[in-house]
Amino acid sequence: MSDDTKMKGGCLCGAVRYETSGEPFAVNYCHCHSCRKHNGAAVVTLAGFKANRVKFSGDERKVYESSPGVGRAFCGKCGTPLTWEGDGGELGQIIEFHISTFDNPEVLVPTSHAFDPERISWFDVADNLPRYEGFADDSSLLRHGPAN
Ligand SMILES: [Zn+2]
Ligand SMILES: [Zn+2]
Repeated sequence: MSDDTKMKGGCLCGAVRYETSGEPFAVNYCHCHSCRKHNGAAVVTLAGFKANRVKFSGDERKVYESSPGVGRAFCGKCGTPLTWEGDGGELGQIIEFHISTFDNPEVLVPTSHAFDPERISWFDVADNLPRYEGFADDSSLLRHGPAN
């Protein structure tokens, strides 16, 4: 991937489409309770982009404000969960996409697990990536594993 890489994605019914440019600043699993609720999934995987590197097309996405300043977008027609959106600190406004909504999620390879303490205890991924208490860039590294 390079700076002019374009990637496309959208919801299940195709009403909401998006295009990102450049590499994501991060691709991580998130085990937090709120992401699970929003997605109805045991774990989610997010790829983050600065908001100015994202273009939406088609139907306007619906945004649910899950906490002050944090939006979680979805398709108003088919309900597909699409994003986490909010203040990314020094990155400015960011949009993190659930990678399963990209047309080609294969190329988005996760590098860490966020909020590992909130992980459903019967669910794990057999990799050796670092596992953090919260977000990778501002919380304690708990361990690597469990692959080894
Ligand atoms: Zn849809
Ligand atoms: Zn989360």
